[in-house]
Amino acid sequence: PLILGLESSCDDTAAAVVSAEREVLSSRVFSQADLHADFGGVVPEIAARAHAERLDIVVEQALAEAGVTLAEIEAVAVTAGPGLIGGVLSGVMFAKGLAAGAGKPLIGVNHLAGHALTPRLTDGLEFPYLMLLVSGGHCQFLAVAGPEEFTRLGGTIDDAPGEAFDKTAKLLGLPQPGGPAVEQEATQGDPTRFDFPRPLIDRPGCDMSFSGLKTALRRARDQIITEKGGLTLQDRADLCASFQAAVADVLTGKTRRAMTAFTESHGATTIAVAGGVAANRTLRAGLEAAATEAGFAFTAPPLALCTDNGAMIAWAGWERYRLGQTDDMTLAARPRWPLDTTAAPMLGSGR
Ligand code: ATP
Ligand code: FE
Repeated sequence: PLILGLESSCDDTAAAVVSAEREVLSSRVFSQADLHADFGGVVPEIAARAHAERLDIVVEQALAEAGVTLAEIEAVAVTAGPGLIGGVLSGVMFAKGLAAGAGKPLIGVNHLAGHALTPRLTDGLEFPYLMLLVSGGHCQFLAVAGPEEFTRLGGTIDDAPGEAFDKTAKLLGLPQPGGPAVEQEATQGDPTRFDFPRPLIDRPGCDMSFSGLKTALRRARDQIITEKGGLTLQDRADLCASFQAAVADVLTGKTRRAMTAFTESHGATTIAVAGGVAANRTLRAGLEAAATEAGFAFTAPPLALCTDNGAMIAWAGWERYRLGQTDDMTLAARPRWPLDTTAAPMLGSGR
């Protein structure tokens, strides 16, 4: 069977066709980065309108690239939250129309479950596994024991790392999304020049904090500007490299603790990383080394499947569908939808 997956919860309009045999037949992503570039962040109204305008094109392209028609699709999966409500609503309404028109089952998917189940699509991981989900809006360790069985082992108590990357880029005059831009700059920089804080790193538990890092970065930047009148390219690269090193250290250090906790609770030794920040090569290298040291198998999806995409939604949809779970026309768009309370298919009024 083939599943069509739609994603529109943030600033990417995406559609993909994925098979039950874990094949990604197509995956199209329309980034809205250019539309939001002048605003220094995603503008919800602009995002919602752009999704509404582009969903049919992106679906058409995904079907064409996969070489199939809508009739050959088994079911339509769509992100039903969490995210910017206008965008989620655009996707849910579009998917309802598509499913009803073609007489196909509709499957509402939690966007975070999409990220967290991606290693099952890309590497066929068996349950249970430890997941570090690290993205634009989230950062958490999850024990993943089933398609809807997520236990949170810890996570950020303030900002998400992706957010920190984006703010860092903004502070340094780099383009959005900040992650790739900061990573690129960091390749030319000295990660040891600035000794940025590693909050909570020596504390027990798996909780993390990233908001102090942002403040430290701003202070370091302002100090250079005060002393020298401005930032050189080398200053900027060093700031990026030192920032990235701090984020990677915190995540890697806490991952060591999470692996210990996970082995104790679940008796398994597999770890995977997912979400947009998982595209970061320095982080991936640090995590892989820590995993190897702890005797864990390490999985990181290809970069294009770490950031938002339709394939992860199609796959998470399939995981629900094969358990006989579908939604009907009452499927609601939910701005907030924590993963560790994903117990049953969400029907009705949402929230
Ligand atoms: P969420 O999934 O939490 O709802 P989101 O969908 O906006 O948030 P993703 O698309 O999963 O987040 O990830 C986007 C985030 O990943 C952005 O903050 C971006 O800066 C960050 N990111 C992307 N590539 C990299 C990279 N190479 N290094 C660091 N961060 C990155
Ligand atoms: Fe995401």
